[in-house]
Amino acid sequence: MIEHEVIIVGAGLAGSWTAMVAGQRGVKDIGVLSKIHPLRSHSGAAQGGIAAALNNARPVAGTGPRGPLEPVPQGEDPPDSPELHMFDTIKGSDWLGDQDAIEIMVNEAPEIIYAYEHMGCVFSRLPDGRIAQRRFGGHSAPRANYAADYTGHVLLHTIHEQALQHGVEFYSEWYCMDLLVEDNVCRGVVAMDVLTGEIHTMRAKAVMFGTGGYGRAFEVTSNAYANTGDGVAIAYNAGVPLMDMEFVQFHPTGLYEHGILMSEACRGEGGYLTNSEDERFMERYAPDKMELAPRDLVSRSEQTEIDEGRGIGPDGKGIYLDLRHLGAEKIKARLPQIRELAIDFVGVDPIDDPIPIQPTAHYSMGGIPTDADGQVIANADGQVIADADGTPVVGFYAAGECACVSVHGANRLGTNSLLEASVFGRRAGHAIADFVQNGAELHPVTGDPAERNRQRVARLMDGAGSESVEAIAQELKQTMTDDCGIYRDKERLAQAMQHVGEMQERFKDARVMDKSKRFNTDVLAAFETEHLLTFSEVIVAGALAREESRGAHYRTDFPKRDDEGWLKHTVAHKGEPGEGPRLSDKGVNIDWDRFPPQERKY
Ligand SMILES: Cc1cc2nc3c(=O)[nH]c(=O)nc-3n(C[C@H](O)[C@H](O)[C@H](O)COP(=O)(O)OP(=O)(O)OC[C@H]3O[C@@H](n4cnc5c(N)ncnc54)[C@H](O)[C@@H]3O)c2cc1C
Repeated sequence: MIEHEVIIVGAGLAGSWTAMVAGQRGVKDIGVLSKIHPLRSHSGAAQGGIAAALNNARPVAGTGPRGPLEPVPQGEDPPDSPELHMFDTIKGSDWLGDQDAIEIMVNEAPEIIYAYEHMGCVFSRLPDGRIAQRRFGGHSAPRANYAADYTGHVLLHTIHEQALQHGVEFYSEWYCMDLLVEDNVCRGVVAMDVLTGEIHTMRAKAVMFGTGGYGRAFEVTSNAYANTGDGVAIAYNAGVPLMDMEFVQFHPTGLYEHGILMSEACRGEGGYLTNSEDERFMERYAPDKMELAPRDLVSRSEQTEIDEGRGIGPDGKGIYLDLRHLGAEKIKARLPQIRELAIDFVGVDPIDDPIPIQPTAHYSMGGIPTDADGQVIANADGQVIADADGTPVVGFYAAGECACVSVHGANRLGTNSLLEASVFGRRAGHAIADFVQNGAELHPVTGDPAERNRQRVARLMDGAGSESVEAIAQELKQTMTDDCGIYRDKERLAQAMQHVGEMQERFKDARVMDKSKRFNTDVLAAFETEHLLTFSEVIVAGALAREESRGAHYRTDFPKRDDEGWLKHTVAHKGEPGEGPRLSDKGVNIDWDRFPPQERKY
């Protein structure tokens, strides 16, 4: 049995911020688990930028760190402010984001950027030394702070170093497989040391999940192989509800047939989208914002072009991203990684030719419901989360992509996610420090949780079943893409629901062929697939129930937003065995005087 004061699962930006801050606050004994090397967490793959209204792109007078500040001409841009950032985020969320949480995020954003800067983060700079900012979809001012197109990489390295400095212990390549909650109190986790195959019960006074997203439930995705939504599935299995899971973001520019992300920075720097007739088709869908409309709208526009026969590529399922007019110098300076990826994976140099792209599953807006301090909210009877003050799961926290605060509502704006992981990861660190330093206890666990999980592994290895894990995973990804993708309707969703249920049944007969103990990736893939099956059912159930179109959730049979019926969060609780999720709802926090719902036009 392993014990820590605090256990954090996930070493991406959210988990690392929590660890660093709790360490800075004097919590002595912090263990961080990561199923892959911490620096390979998906946060490190983020390219485009992190949002904050610094207003650096405006002409200014005065003196900066390297002498007089130079005016930067910005045309008709309004001056930037946290309030404008707040409005853009609310509008981007299609009014489903909780406005109190959004306000906290945008107000803390500038401070977070300067905190990164002071820890040594190498942002790209304006000639006068201030942090450079570029445009991103749905933001009304240039507000993406960036480090070329390696932003996530430099942020993650900075925070990881700081966490190490504060004595945080990293368990690299440890796989969390169970969350221990009894009587609404979290008591620890069960995890496998992947190298040895040993399974351990790990007790703690507080557990935090920063386990990231779940794009891997779809056939084409920008997400890392590790993004299988383990955390959300594990929490759900432990009785924690999940919120707004039907909202899955498809990013408009994944590399054709690969899904690898071509950052929105490509369009932020001025890239065009064109169809097989060489038209900039966004003129038809978002005449004002064009390519810089928010992601849900651009992905749907691309899909419509493809469905109507104006796609490119051998199967007509692609679109072109054209950067040629930006010129070689700008492409090399601002988008070096994009150029490298396009050359390596599809043999196209964006200096000379347009890049073939297609929509790619990218981000999960829904997840584990929390308050603005990362405290996970559920209610004791598993029915409905009370509007303002749901019952907390004592000692359990979550932040980053696996959590739903909710700041992104029905659709996330680019660059708001690195920000969310940083702001709410930091807040969770403070909340956890307060919790453990104010007399939190190490609670006992009933029975032998590690043994229960060893038996799960034994069943996979020794069972008589003949189903292949890989085949089920592949079929699930296809089902989710075909029947629960960018465009949805009742018939296809009902079909998906039935299909996922059948695959869950078949999974009971799944068997892994590799019987070895050390570094058994077959066993890990089996657990990951079980998790994909678990939360995919929740995505489909939410999508089937929500009879409206809002943000990333588009029902062709209910193409309008319905504020009367659906201006509310979906909350899913695990049902009895054989029964689907039980759905309830929760109100949205709206400041009716300042930001009442409006029609969303770009
Ligand atoms: C290609 C790409 C580019 C992006 N670009 C941007 C951008 O420019 N700007 C922006 O704001 N957002 C961007 N995003 C989104 C953003 O990067 C993520 O939402 C954010 O980094 C998530 O951080 P996180 O800390 O929540 O999770 P992650 O960084 O994904 O970390 C998850 C951690 O959990 C661990 N973990 C998961 N399951 C287990 C388990 N069972 N046991 C043990 N450990 C586990 C993993 O090992 C990992 O350490 C991008 C996303 C992608 C995929």
